[in-house]
Amino acid sequence: MGLNEGKSNSEFEFYPYRYFAAEGFLPGFNFPRLPVRAYIPTEDGGEFISRPRTVALREFAPSNIVYYEGSKFMVAKTKVPVSGIDSQYKRVSVCFNCGYFHEGNFRDTCENCDAAIKNDRYENIAKLTRVLPMETAIARRRERITCDEEERLKYGYNVTTHFRYDSQKQESATVQSVEGTPLLRLTYGATAKIWRINRGLKKNIDERGFKLDTKTGFWGDPRNEQATESLHTEVNLMVNDTCNILVIEPLSVPVENSEAFIATLQYTLETAIQAVYKLEADELDSERLGEGKYLLFWEAAEGGAGVLSQLLEKPEAFQKIANAALDICHFNQPKESCVQACYECLLSYRNQFDHALINRHYIKPLLDQLLASKVVGNFEGMSREERYQQLLQQTDPNSNFERVVLQEIYQRGYKLPDAAQELIPLANCKPDFIYKTNAAIAIFCDGSVHDSPDKRRQDQIERDNLRYNTGYTVLTLRHDQDWEAKLSILASL
Ligand SMILES: [Zn+2]
Ligand SMILES: [Zn+2]
Repeated sequence: MGLNEGKSNSEFEFYPYRYFAAEGFLPGFNFPRLPVRAYIPTEDGGEFISRPRTVALREFAPSNIVYYEGSKFMVAKTKVPVSGIDSQYKRVSVCFNCGYFHEGNFRDTCENCDAAIKNDRYENIAKLTRVLPMETAIARRRERITCDEEERLKYGYNVTTHFRYDSQKQESATVQSVEGTPLLRLTYGATAKIWRINRGLKKNIDERGFKLDTKTGFWGDPRNEQATESLHTEVNLMVNDTCNILVIEPLSVPVENSEAFIATLQYTLETAIQAVYKLEADELDSERLGEGKYLLFWEAAEGGAGVLSQLLEKPEAFQKIANAALDICHFNQPKESCVQACYECLLSYRNQFDHALINRHYIKPLLDQLLASKVVGNFEGMSREERYQQLLQQTDPNSNFERVVLQEIYQRGYKLPDAAQELIPLANCKPDFIYKTNAAIAIFCDGSVHDSPDKRRQDQIERDNLRYNTGYTVLTLRHDQDWEAKLSILASL
């Protein structure tokens, strides 16, 4: 039986796979994202249904109605772990300026943008004590749903989105106009984390979070006197995912219609990136963060599509995106019947709540500027070509093989090394190339001078030492072996 629907006689079965992942023994990335399950009682035992985590956060949320084989069920309970609910709570501080997520002791300022950690303008709480990672939900059959319940559910849940970069895996660049004016700031994060927090029903303005009987796992008001003791209020539900993300900050937002400008830019970039890189609609997703100052894009497909990192690597990346965007928004071939936006350009079922905001005319001036733009990496304003020339200069003049390897990296369009011939003091060792920002990789290019047995022994000791002392991954390329194939591990950087 897989992770999806299946018959079962007990509420909880033991899946080693699920257990190891939950306990962190398996790396979260390149690993199937485990769905959340709900137990539906049936006459012959019960069934599990599962949903992707972000969907489950709403669908399996307390008191939501689940339809299954023609019957109505209400989510009534959460699984209580052996160690108790209290041990599961996370203490979380979120920054409403940029969307950054912090776990553990409360923080007063944001680690990412330095802004004060404080509630947002909708009075969403920034510092939360009871945040419960979502567990298997248990539903109970409900024949009748009261009008009151239906009314409350109609408005849905209040869900906020947050992110955090993986340590050392963040890279930034600026998109500049032809005159050198910065237009967009880009920050790419490989294997970053995205969190979503369900803060309760939107309709319950006076009540934050959910009520939970921590002894039984039942959601909602206490069922008897005894339950009041173990009742917790202001409980929030949380799910997370690991994916490659790109945060885009538009640097010149018009004062008028700024909200509409940002929303339109979000969907225009999303649609244009999908068109240029031939992605399916569900492979790239986006959201506005920090009260509309930042746009968060993420590769929603499992393992990632590997597209977002390319937007920082290629100087002309945003020229192509702007070109596709102008085409999609009918600026190349005018469409009279499209006033602000239509289903052929920017509107979709997914962005229906933003339809009133989307207006393609607001972003036309920015798209025109992007058409002649250049992506400038964080190497002191150098383009990829300039950076390549600089690295060539830094290689060992006596080793032609190093330059052959660098040329291959450059021509394949891989991320360029962060340094050449740089000493790593901790291991007293100088690899030919190193990657520091996205992953720690040290490359050694062994030309014919490394062929003698003595030299090879010495190399081995030096590289083992590097591996043990610094955690660098060592990539040894020998001139007389198939080094081209080995290089492909750099493709994922
Ligand atoms: Zn922040
Ligand atoms: Zn249109």
